[in-house]
Amino acid sequence: QLIEQKDIVKIGLLGVGSCGEVFKMEHKPSKMTLAMKVMSRTVSDEDNKRIIMDLDVLDKSHNFPHIVRCIGYFIRQTEVWIGMELMACCFDKLLKLIKQPIPESILGKLTYSTVTALNYLKEKQGVMHRDVKPSNILIDENGNIKLCDFGISGVLVESKAKSRKAGCAAYMAPERIGPSVADKPNYDIRADIWSLGIALIELATNAHPYANCQTDFDVMSRIVTEEPPQLPADLSFSDDFRSFVNNCLIKDYQQRPKYGPLMSHPFFVQSTEQPVDVAEWYRVVIAKARQKRAQ
Ligand code: ADP
Ligand code: MG
Repeated sequence: QLIEQKDIVKIGLLGVGSCGEVFKMEHKPSKMTLAMKVMSRTVSDEDNKRIIMDLDVLDKSHNFPHIVRCIGYFIRQTEVWIGMELMACCFDKLLKLIKQPIPESILGKLTYSTVTALNYLKEKQGVMHRDVKPSNILIDENGNIKLCDFGISGVLVESKAKSRKAGCAAYMAPERIGPSVADKPNYDIRADIWSLGIALIELATNAHPYANCQTDFDVMSRIVTEEPPQLPADLSFSDDFRSFVNNCLIKDYQQRPKYGPLMSHPFFVQSTEQPVDVAEWYRVVIAKARQKRAQ
C-alpha cells in the first residue's frame, strides 16, 4: 500500500489544477503506471491532522468501484503526494477534445456512477465531496466512470486560501456563496448535488451555463440572483433527464432532494438498468477527435 518516493519516476504531466499538478509516473518495483497528484501544503499541526484524516478516507475508499483507487501516498515537508490509478481521461478534457455534447445515455451512466460514489462517501465515510466538476469525473479505457478528489483537495485549498470556499466558483451551490453565521457551514451534501446539475448541463450542451462571465464574482452574483439554469428547451432530451437536472438545481437547498430520493428518480433508475456500451462510445469519439486533429 505504501509508495516510496525513491521507487517512482516521472513520465509526463497529466494536468495542472487549482492546488497542484498531476503527473503520470511509473512505480518501478511493480512496473505500474499511476497518476501522482502533488499538492503543496502549509506546515501546521492542525493541517497535518486533517490531511491524514482525509487521506485515511481516501485509503478506505479504494475498493469502491466508482471512486478512483488510491494506491498510496506520502506527506513531505511542503507537499502531499497521492498515487492514484491512472485513468484515460477526465470529462473536462474529453469535452474540449471532442467539442460536442455528451449523449444523454452516457450522462445517465455518469450520473449513476457519480451519485453512487457520493452516496457511498456520505453513508460509509461521513464526508461530502465539495468539488464535483467534470475534471473530477474520470473515465478509463473499459468505460468505467469514477469520481476523484474528494475531501483532501478541499482541505488544502481551504487552508491555503484561509476560507471555506473550497471548490470551483462555476459549480458552486448558491447556499455556499455569501457569509456564514459564526463560521458554521450553512450547507450540506446537497451542495454537491447542485454541482452535479451544473456539470450535467455543461456536458449535455457543450456549454457551461455561466460561461460568459469574466470573474468568479460575476459567476457567483449570477448564481445567487438568477433563476437556476435548465437544459435548453430547443435541444432534445428526455423529460426524465430534464426533471432530474431541475431537481439537482433547486435553488433553495432545503427543498433540494438528497441522495435517497435522487436514486429513486426515474432518470437514475433507468440509467442504472439500461445497458450502454460506454467503452465503445469512448473509443469511437476519441478516435474521431484524433483523426480530425491529424488532418
Ligand atoms: P482539476 O481537477 O482542478 O482540473 P487536478 O489537479 O485535480 O485539477 O487535476 C488535473 C488534471 O489531471 C485533471 O484535469 C485530470 O485530467 C488529470 N487527472 C487527475 N487525476 C487523474 C487520474 N487518476 N488519471 C488520469 N488523469 C488524472
Ligand atoms: Mg481534480
